[in-house]
Amino acid sequence: MKKLEQIYEGKAKKVFRTDDPERFIVEYKDDATAFNGQKKGTILGKGSINNRMTNLLMQMLEKHGVPTHFVEELNDRETVVKKVEIVPLEVIIRNISAGHFASNYGVEEGIVFEHPTIEFSYKNDDLGDPLINSYHALALKLATKEEIDTIIRLSFKVDEVLQEFFLTVGIKLVDFKLEFGRTSDGTIILADEISPDTCRLWDKDTNEKLDKDRFRRDLGNVEDAYQEVMSRLLAKSAEK
Ligand code: UDP
Repeated sequence: MKKLEQIYEGKAKKVFRTDDPERFIVEYKDDATAFNGQKKGTILGKGSINNRMTNLLMQMLEKHGVPTHFVEELNDRETVVKKVEIVPLEVIIRNISAGHFASNYGVEEGIVFEHPTIEFSYKNDDLGDPLINSYHALALKLATKEEIDTIIRLSFKVDEVLQEFFLTVGIKLVDFKLEFGRTSDGTIILADEISPDTCRLWDKDTNEKLDKDRFRRDLGNVEDAYQEVMSRLLAKSAEK
């Protein structure tokens, strides 16, 4: 497959067209941003870790019946994915209070929920990704009712599979963000990435933060944290 021109550059990834009209190539960068792009930096080795971690987790999700955009890892930083039109919704699932849940509702971080929560943001940088509900998403024609139902069902399934898996490597899956896409035949599949950039991951025993909060909050050892998660995942997948 031939990598053709770049069609998009986001905060953490570039997307390229290929000679196959149904495939894109994603390239992961070491660039990191937070607070809607106000804080910028580099996390050395992040691109490679996020690429490999996303691919590993997406392949696991496929086995559990969650359709994803993953096709083939090309190298450390590049992956072939199915071409999709991204649904402009950021889906956030939470198992434990943290981040905006804690600040918006005035509770401490670390409260374990009896049932996970789901929320949507309208993916729009100019508006600052405002929080919306599914009725707003319908009114804004971001997705159909059926698509929203599918997205909700798949998101909770992702949570179930990933929570269980992360626990086996001593990590609590606190919360995470997902994005979905539509293939050319209209199927909704999981797209984007699943990495310490998009998940809050806490060590099961110490609650040490092993994710992008180390960058957002200047906690230090950012690279080490990403590497630690990746090492645990690789050790686990080598067991099988
Ligand atoms: N998240 C993300 N991209 C965003 C916003 C949030 O990947 O643009 C992830 C974030 O890493 C966390 C979860 O979604 O794992 C919940 O984030 P929250 O709403 O608490 O916002 P944050 O405090 O991360 O800005």
